[in-house]
Amino acid sequence: MAQIMVIGGGIAGTAAALALHKAGFDVTVHEAHPDAGADIGAFLTLASNGMRALAQLDAAALIADLGFPVTAMTVTDEAGAQLAAMPLGEHHHPLTRYRCLRRAELGAALQDEVRRREIPIRHGARLTAVTESATAATAVFADGSSATGDLIVGADGLHSTVRSQLDPAAPGPEYAGQSVFYGYTADAAPPQGDPDRITMIRGSGAAFGYLVSPAGETFWFARVPGPAVSAEELATTTPGQWRDRLVPILRPDRTPAADIVAATSDRLMVTNALHLSPGTRWHGRRTVLIGDAAHAASPATGQGASMALEDAVVLAKALRDAETPAAALDSYERHRRPRVELNIATSAQLTASRNTDRPPGTDGPQRRDSERPAPRVDEELLRLLDWDTPLPGTPRDA
Ligand SMILES: Cc1cc2nc3c(=O)[nH]c(=O)nc-3n(C[C@H](O)[C@H](O)[C@H](O)COP(=O)(O)OP(=O)(O)OC[C@H]3O[C@@H](n4cnc5c(N)ncnc54)[C@H](O)[C@@H]3O)c2cc1C
Repeated sequence: MAQIMVIGGGIAGTAAALALHKAGFDVTVHEAHPDAGADIGAFLTLASNGMRALAQLDAAALIADLGFPVTAMTVTDEAGAQLAAMPLGEHHHPLTRYRCLRRAELGAALQDEVRRREIPIRHGARLTAVTESATAATAVFADGSSATGDLIVGADGLHSTVRSQLDPAAPGPEYAGQSVFYGYTADAAPPQGDPDRITMIRGSGAAFGYLVSPAGETFWFARVPGPAVSAEELATTTPGQWRDRLVPILRPDRTPAADIVAATSDRLMVTNALHLSPGTRWHGRRTVLIGDAAHAASPATGQGASMALEDAVVLAKALRDAETPAAALDSYERHRRPRVELNIATSAQLTASRNTDRPPGTDGPQRRDSERPAPRVDEELLRLLDWDTPLPGTPRDA
């Protein structure tokens, strides 16, 4: 197999391009957006497992220059009382620390690195159809052009066209029961304690989290249970109107949440938390899904980007190490599906939980959706991600 077409130049697609290129394949990325700046501006936390995956692509140092590190988490209740304080992930090493950064920054840095390694990215290339045979796959684009290669990697996100081509009957993303508000403000001064700390608040009406950047800007989010926000509301509601809706939900609590939101002007955005049901078909003969296209989770565990980065490494290793494309795609799915579907289920459970609930497998203080349990970075995952270790069950592993 030589020529691979990656559909989507987001986090999964660019990471896959870096990984496949490193494994020796001839890769082209086809991205629908006409230029590199395709983001609404939300931030995310990249977890230690995501940073480890980036390290396998020789890109961790690049990302460690962006945003700021997050090394600890504090959890408080609605009265502001501290319930827990703990270190976060692999906080000792600068390249494996959690990082908080804007999604657009991460995407742009990965796209820059793809270009620096001279991997072609075609912008304005919106895929509309896929056909595949036993030996080849063809991508058809909205401008009437098409391209044929040995494999199509569908990294086209939550509303994936590749997924709907692979399985037209597959259910689309479903509402996970919360709307998510995000914002930034330089005009709030919440108590921060140590630097590099994320504070999670188990609020009475919403799960709230905030971090303060080294420049003194507060990054915050609120996950609010309730009906989905309609498309019309999303299109017509101004940041100020969203703020005025959110503040009264947070105000009854004796925490900094309401003041942080009240101090936010127009850098405030809202989205519905969506996820895919487990069991989606992941691959055909010459087509395979990665990232949100395969396994989008609601945001409570904060793992979507990190899981996409893990996918990229494992898919490239599978294609490098297996004897046939069919064996490689089976191997990729076998190694990835249990972990990412556990993430979807855990996130859904956290999203649905209340103070009285405790998701299975957690001990200590009762959890709810404001807390992000670190996914296991165990020996098995380290072997799966380690570039120089053959993928288990492949001929190179024998
Ligand atoms: C509210 C919210 C909070 C989140 N918080 C976190 C967090 O804290 N930590 C974390 O790790 N993750 C978080 N995530 C999840 C994370 O953003 C996603 O999991 C991640 O971006 C998935 O990357 P992706 O490349 O699979 O998809 P995307 O980033 O969506 O990229 C898909 C790309 O495909 C392109 N595309 C789409 N259709 C086509 C087409 N037909 N043809 C060509 N190109 C196409 C798009 O333009 C886009 O560039 C959050 C998500 C949400 C919604």
